[in-house]
Amino acid sequence: MSVTADNMTQHSGQTAAEAGRRRTFAVISHPDAGKSTLTEALALHAAAISSAGAVHGKGDRRGVTSDWMEMEQARGISITSAALRIDYGDCVLNLLDTPGHADFSEDTYRVLSAVDCAIMLLDSAKGLEPQTLKLFDVCRARRMPVITFVNKWDRPGREPLELLDEIEQRIGLRPTPMNWPVGIAGDFRGLIDRASGVYTKMHRTPGGATRAVEEELTAEQAAEVEEETWVQASEEIELLEEIGAGYDEESFLAGESSPVLFGAALPNFGVSALLDTLVSLAPPPGDLLDAKGEPRPVGALFSGQVFKMQANMDKAHRDRMAFVRVASGRFERGMVLTHAETGRPFATKYTQAVFGSERSTIDTAYPGDVIALINAQALSVGDTLYEGQKVVFPPIPSFAPEHFVVARALDSGRYKQFQRGIAQLDSEGVVQVLTSDVRGEQAPVLAAVGPLQFDVVKHRMEEEFRAPVELSHLDYCLARRTDAESAPTLHGLSGAEVMKRRSDGELLMLVHNKWRLRVIERDHPDLTMEPLLAGG
Ligand code: GDP
Repeated sequence: MSVTADNMTQHSGQTAAEAGRRRTFAVISHPDAGKSTLTEALALHAAAISSAGAVHGKGDRRGVTSDWMEMEQARGISITSAALRIDYGDCVLNLLDTPGHADFSEDTYRVLSAVDCAIMLLDSAKGLEPQTLKLFDVCRARRMPVITFVNKWDRPGREPLELLDEIEQRIGLRPTPMNWPVGIAGDFRGLIDRASGVYTKMHRTPGGATRAVEEELTAEQAAEVEEETWVQASEEIELLEEIGAGYDEESFLAGESSPVLFGAALPNFGVSALLDTLVSLAPPPGDLLDAKGEPRPVGALFSGQVFKMQANMDKAHRDRMAFVRVASGRFERGMVLTHAETGRPFATKYTQAVFGSERSTIDTAYPGDVIALINAQALSVGDTLYEGQKVVFPPIPSFAPEHFVVARALDSGRYKQFQRGIAQLDSEGVVQVLTSDVRGEQAPVLAAVGPLQFDVVKHRMEEEFRAPVELSHLDYCLARRTDAESAPTLHGLSGAEVMKRRSDGELLMLVHNKWRLRVIERDHPDLTMEPLLAGG
């Protein structure tokens, strides 16, 4: 069937309108800052699920788990990163999960290549914490807009001005508060919306399982009810006006300033303000640049990029699933796409929208949405799928590994399977595989962002490739990019070793620790030792 020009324009316009309704984002935070609680609160508020506690199966909160491996179940954590779709008014919010805790891995970083905005979630008592900083580095490298949510305001914490100062001083992100808390952390009374001056008083509900009651008051009413605390908050707001901490769209979209909101996810205080800010300020999916730097208009025919691979989600069917972010066009289940890297057709008969273990089949998707393709053996992280005119998106960068092991086949008779398995895990991006002449092909070094990846390797090598492995810990904890000129000198130094990354041929210097690295840098100022993205 031929598609007429009119038809095309109509499709393109509809796709652009659908893209405009979408906000695709992730929450970056340190473990325990309240990411799961906030996710539930957002979903609850948007009425996507009927009662709080139904998103993660953590602790005593019953619910949808994203467990997919026995080991994962045994530990009660979630390795899967998935997408949660939340319909909110006219908007479709796609919240991509960034796994944390021990399951922190390269996937956590990769998810950030598939979103248009991040919510930086801070614990009011702790401010910026290590994992938040690492994830923020990735956002900064991508110049991604970041909205800051200061959580747990219902508990004793720090001064709001002090927290803002920390954000500005430590990461150079200019905070622009959208609302301001009345009452210190631990004695949270409500929030003043800076733009309108409206005061929202919070009324607690026991248990926090339902939405907090938010009551709107005028300034006069608020002054009467809140007395001293109101005066103090008003003075602080005046101070903000004086220092010019007002919202600025241009610097927000460039990732230089960040709208800040205060609240408490557990009792659902201030979550509606966060949702509204997300909808009104976060950018909808725009035209992505391809590998040549040319924009692929959102209204063009379908294109998308694989940002995550996952295997073995379903024990009964050993499948490989590719998570694809739609970049342009309308996706329809059953479409036959082209795999840019091989030029081969890719049938999309089996597609799912995925969150946790709840899989539902999706039929259509638009820019900003995430689709999961099953039986995706041919795909790897970073690959492009398209319809019509060829497009290739730039590769997703590899991130700085911090954990290293040597892998050996336990059964030398299964060496072929061992090699195949390692190559497979490399292509999926489960670990980075490093080799060197000194160590030989038989004993590759596996490098990871988080140590839990090694458990995944062990489990899958045994179960899936029937090639059990022995992994021995290597005493390195950081890596630097180097080059062929510098490598021979660096390789001979104590506490360091140079290896080649299989996937891209990059030379990496592994170093025992940062003190050792400082000494090497001091003694060899002319040699190449560049930090890798994030954590390095
Ligand atoms: P995650 O590790 O970032 O996903 O954090 P969780 O959502 O599991 O929260 C960690 C702990 O902080 C849990 O005990 C939550 O109940 C608690 N918590 C989260 N948000 C709030 C909040 O706004 N106020 C209070 N008081 N506790 C919170």
